[in-house]
Amino acid sequence: MQALPVPDLPEIREGDDIAALVDERIDLRPSDIVAVASTVVSKATGRTADLDDFPADDRARSVAQRLEDATGDEKDPRFAQAVLEESEELLIESPFLLTRTHFGHITVNAGIDRSNVPGHDLLLLPEDPSERAAEIRAGLDVDAPVLVTDTCGRPFRHGQRGVTIGWAGMPASRDWRGEHDRDGRELGVTVQSVVDELAATANLVAGEGAGGTPVVVIRDWDFGEHGGSDELFRDLDGDFVQQALRQWSYE
Ligand code: GDP
Ligand code: MN
Ligand code: MN
Ligand code: MN
Repeated sequence: MQALPVPDLPEIREGDDIAALVDERIDLRPSDIVAVASTVVSKATGRTADLDDFPADDRARSVAQRLEDATGDEKDPRFAQAVLEESEELLIESPFLLTRTHFGHITVNAGIDRSNVPGHDLLLLPEDPSERAAEIRAGLDVDAPVLVTDTCGRPFRHGQRGVTIGWAGMPASRDWRGEHDRDGRELGVTVQSVVDELAATANLVAGEGAGGTPVVVIRDWDFGEHGGSDELFRDLDGDFVQQALRQWSYE
């Protein structure tokens, strides 16, 4: 398997056709998977914003004040307002904002980015990343799956890594249940989040700074003969960590 950064992509602006820009720079094969950093999907679809677009209401002011009290750092209530507007629910209020976005992804600050956003204060995540992935896929010269990725923190472990927030053309996961290990024991629980494993690979190549490589092509990786499913974001029902968090924050 190879992970190939697409070279020489320009600074992406609103209205840019990411599929066309990719096609001009690499000869895609039908078995390739195209991983696109959400940053450029957001830029292309006009999801840049400024703090002044988010006048803070009382709730945002109290959320920002609480963060300021907890961290000792100045917090802009307009930023809290942007996070609240981009979120379905606030899961942790202090010492940072952990929220669920409208499309189901749980992340810090609703994934609002303040890096690599020339001319604006904020970059919001795409509104419907899987829909954006499908649009990019439809524009490519070949019929290749597309992933929209973001760099994301994680509980329990230090360090951020790439995850997939939108996908099209392949299942989100690969189901090993019912298959057998080397001892002949039947696997009972393993559903592998292949879109996240591929996102981490792509993100490793893309880097986080000024590298200028937001699109990475995964070549010669094979899904194999397995079942698949599109479940990625857990429902509250089956998410015991989220349930425990709720108990803890409302106690
Ligand atoms: P995120 O993980 O989706 O938040 O994206 P990052 O801000 O970490 O950027 C991922 C990669 O894309 C890095 O290599 C950046 O230098 C690059 N990048 C970000 N914006 C642009 C852009 O508009 N054009 C190009 N060519 N590269 C960009
Ligand atoms: Mn990001
Ligand atoms: Mn990143
Ligand atoms: Mn194992």
